[in-house]
Amino acid sequence: MAVREIRKLKDELLYKRSREVEIIDDKIKEISEDMIDTLYKYDGIGLAACQVGVLKRIVVYDIEYIKEGGVRTPKILINPVITKSSKQMVTTEEGCLSFPDLFGCVDRHEKITVEATNIKGNKITINAKDIESVVLQHELDHLDGKVFVDIAYDTYVGEKEDNTKDKKKNKKVKK
Ligand SMILES: [Zn+2]
Repeated sequence: MAVREIRKLKDELLYKRSREVEIIDDKIKEISEDMIDTLYKYDGIGLAACQVGVLKRIVVYDIEYIKEGGVRTPKILINPVITKSSKQMVTTEEGCLSFPDLFGCVDRHEKITVEATNIKGNKITINAKDIESVVLQHELDHLDGKVFVDIAYDTYVGEKEDNTKDKKKNKKVKK
């Protein structure tokens, strides 16, 4: 197990479509474990394989650990697909390990259903709402080479929760 380097900003792998995992072999298991190590190392909530330089449809996430007193409950999704989305939208301030210190508002579906394969090769269905739904939409976008900065608004550079920075300056940084 190892922490991997996170691809950032203009790294071309962030803008490419990731390929389906065909066989869950030792290599896929190792990548997934490394992704989990990397997720915790950098205090992330979710991470897609392309962010560590692997163009495979693998996502890891943990929405429990960031809560106060939260325990580690990492989840690994292989070849996840959104099969249902609520009409109801929710707006959340998002950030991304590939865009350090950049935050912005994104509109996402409040609830989604995701079908995926787990690391044991079993089919699983996740009915996600609120933060889990937002995280999964963010990570699944990564698998299609999409990044949140392209759909975010009111973006700013700085510490999370600190949106007092000059907006004009932030727009410049965004480009
Ligand atoms: Zn991201």
